[in-house]
Amino acid sequence: MITKKIRSVFSVKNKSFLTPHLIRVVFEMNEDQVKLLACVQSGYNNKLFIPSVEKGSEPIIRTYTNRKVDLKNRELTIDFVAHGENGPASAWALKANPGDILEIGMKESTKPLVPDADFYLFVGDSTALPVICSIVEQLPSYVTAKIILEVHDKKDELILCSAADVSVEWLHNSHPEKGSLLADLTRRVEFPSGILKEYIYIAAEYTTVHQLRNYFKTYLNWDPQGIYACSYWRAGQAENR
Ligand SMILES: Cc1cc2nc3c(=O)[nH]c(=O)nc-3n(C[C@H](O)[C@H](O)[C@H](O)COP(=O)(O)OP(=O)(O)OC[C@H]3O[C@@H](n4cnc5c(N)ncnc54)[C@H](O)[C@@H]3O)c2cc1C
Repeated sequence: MITKKIRSVFSVKNKSFLTPHLIRVVFEMNEDQVKLLACVQSGYNNKLFIPSVEKGSEPIIRTYTNRKVDLKNRELTIDFVAHGENGPASAWALKANPGDILEIGMKESTKPLVPDADFYLFVGDSTALPVICSIVEQLPSYVTAKIILEVHDKKDELILCSAADVSVEWLHNSHPEKGSLLADLTRRVEFPSGILKEYIYIAAEYTTVHQLRNYFKTYLNWDPQGIYACSYWRAGQAENR
């Protein structure tokens, strides 16, 4: 199957702080972009081409999540963790205003974001909030999900919408670049007995993902088809891909 790549310049419709550390930017779509994004799913990742502050330099590429592709209302929503002006993407979102433009690339996809399962375990930090919120919104009512999320503090917690039977456990960490307790907490999760099919989804800082990948794959010998673990950022390092 050939996956079509899309790259287009979007204009900011509005920007708001969903929580003190999460900025929501809604881009408007014109008629052509609505057609272009007809097969792009909410929850899939994209590439942002952040204009470089140095004149004549190439844009800086960063990976984010299409939090929502809303063709009816002609809106593309991306949620940015506000981690300061030390990163071009976070700095761009902090300064963004209606009417600003940003080039965004993405791929068409028909594949579901997660395979079918009876029980899901989601583990993520603030950068994974958009993808996890998007996935749980799409889960059917007859499945169960346990979600462990780490955010800056209580004010950064969000309400997750889902038809599924969902329980959310929040961790607070005001310095995620200095380490996280996500892996420790996840290793203590007890999986319900009698479940036919389980699926684990992990998206967080590199060290947490590395620890949990080792724990599930090496220590527990978890079926590789039953786990997704992706490093979303790395403390002390700019994204480089
Ligand atoms: C598939 C995928 C989907 C993603 N989706 C999202 C998304 O929807 N929303 C989102 O906010 N992020 C998302 N991320 C994470 C995002 O790409 C990284 O956080 C990225 O490094 C941010 O770019 P930047 O230009 O702000 O900082 P960079 O220039 O990459 O980094 C500059 C400095 O900031 C630090 N840093 C980067 N991110 C954080 C953070 N969250 N907290 C504290 N320090 C940080 C780095 O360690 C580095 O020291 C996603 C990553 C992947 C791989």
